[in-house]
Amino acid sequence: MDNKQLAELLFGDVKTTVDEITAKYPARTLPDKAEVTRFAPSPTGYMHIGGLYAALISSKIAKQSGGVFYLRLEDTDKKREVERGADEIISSLKKFGVEFDEGAAADGEPENGAYGPYRQSHRREIYRAFAKDLVEKGLAYPCFCSAEELDEIRKKQEAEKLDMGYYGEFARCRNLTYEEIEQRVKGGDEYVIRLRSPGNAENKITCRDVIRGNIEMPENITDVVLLKSDGIPTYHYAHVIDDFLMGTTTVIRGDEWISSYPIHHQLFTVSGLKMPRYAHIAPIMKLDGGENKKRKLSKRKDPEASISYYAEQGYPVESVIEYLMTIASSGYEEWRIKNPDADISEYKFKLDKMPVSGALFDTDKLNSVSRDVIAKLSEQQLAELITAWAAEHDETLTKYINDAPEKFADSIKLWKYNGKKVRKDVAKWSELTDMYDYLYVGAPKAHDFDEKIPPEKRKEFIDAYIAAYDHNDDSSQWFERVKQVGEPLGFCPNIKEYKADPDAYVGSVADACGILRAAITGHLNSPDLYTIMQLIGEQETIERLKKV
Ligand code: GLU
Repeated sequence: MDNKQLAELLFGDVKTTVDEITAKYPARTLPDKAEVTRFAPSPTGYMHIGGLYAALISSKIAKQSGGVFYLRLEDTDKKREVERGADEIISSLKKFGVEFDEGAAADGEPENGAYGPYRQSHRREIYRAFAKDLVEKGLAYPCFCSAEELDEIRKKQEAEKLDMGYYGEFARCRNLTYEEIEQRVKGGDEYVIRLRSPGNAENKITCRDVIRGNIEMPENITDVVLLKSDGIPTYHYAHVIDDFLMGTTTVIRGDEWISSYPIHHQLFTVSGLKMPRYAHIAPIMKLDGGENKKRKLSKRKDPEASISYYAEQGYPVESVIEYLMTIASSGYEEWRIKNPDADISEYKFKLDKMPVSGALFDTDKLNSVSRDVIAKLSEQQLAELITAWAAEHDETLTKYINDAPEKFADSIKLWKYNGKKVRKDVAKWSELTDMYDYLYVGAPKAHDFDEKIPPEKRKEFIDAYIAAYDHNDDSSQWFERVKQVGEPLGFCPNIKEYKADPDAYVGSVADACGILRAAITGHLNSPDLYTIMQLIGEQETIERLKKV
């Protein structure tokens, strides 16, 4: 067969050569060892936490080496695309501090960078030129098999427990004559372009994975689809051409792609293109129904799989990033302990320190990391972050903030400090909603009193306390007063003594405080009660006590 003639038949309109295209993508001038990495999502509009994780890592690898991190939109599957999906991805990553040096821009905005276009749907002619080149070299051919025929092949392979795919005797269109092809093309039959795989299943290839080390796999033998019938490439083919032209040095992607590595290896080889390094990252998992039952965080089942969840819940961005870094790198936590105030950019991230099996996503751990992050923020920073969060996610809180800004500022002190000590019990802004009722609304509707103290005793204590209350007490005077009022009524002022002989008392001073706490806040747990009483003011304090 005359392959040149075939290439003209199939791609007569393609005039640009592979060499001409390649010349438009010169090597970048970057420092030695600089890494070029990319984030290459399909614009589905949904950002999985695993996507943020991969993007953070890729960005870090590029930035710390003085390289380039770019965004490429893999929008070749129109079925998966949603309107404004690209904008959604760009803006949600930006919220989490991930910014691109070059690449696709939000819809309607100009792209930034000389290695574009960065949307695969705008690169159709490039892929077609590369495919034409392979046809000319006898390394690709048109395939006219219908969906039904392919299904038939699949069923046969399944029934006979053979390797799946279009290869060997199953590759029916591999050896069509030029005349047959010409007749079908001219007759308007639909066709895809397939690789003519030179592979042999006996041969082994090695994936030198940056994270996992060498992985040996059999060579690819299937004639995979390169271009679909509409001329749009498959992921396999598009990423090979793009990562080559765009100068990617390390492809960082999910490990679900390891099994197709032999295809990619072969596509680079037959096309004569220099291959980037590959780093396959393990997915983020969660425990589901038992100690050892791990599964991937699922878009469908787990709200925490979406990065919008963290914004809605009010986790500061730094908390999420900090936590993802602890999952991503085994040395990170130790580094953080030694460098509590250092910027993450100072941490030298190494891909080969990444987990090889799926890292467990642990909400408790995230919360604990977040409490540490929040504890480090100043009152001013907290006020700004909470106000910004509330403006997007919490109308009620926004109203309170606007109605009484000083009270809001004081409320931050309330949960941030215990005397001079910084408390660490807030992990996300939505937890603050628990405080609304008693700080802003008024007397609690229900009171969670400890049943241990009989109601008559409770009343007796509250009456005596109201009579003795002095709003000008400082916090230690306040505590002394609770003791003084409580003692004659059977509340032991000394916890140790109480514990030595509990039956001799109604309760301890802690129980007396508990009565006041429940009366004022409704709950048995709250931040510092003295401060809460100061915040709501004398009149409100007395009213709430009287009410119970
Ligand atoms: N578009 C592919 C995906 O979303 C990208 C994989 C890659 O990074 O090469 O899984």
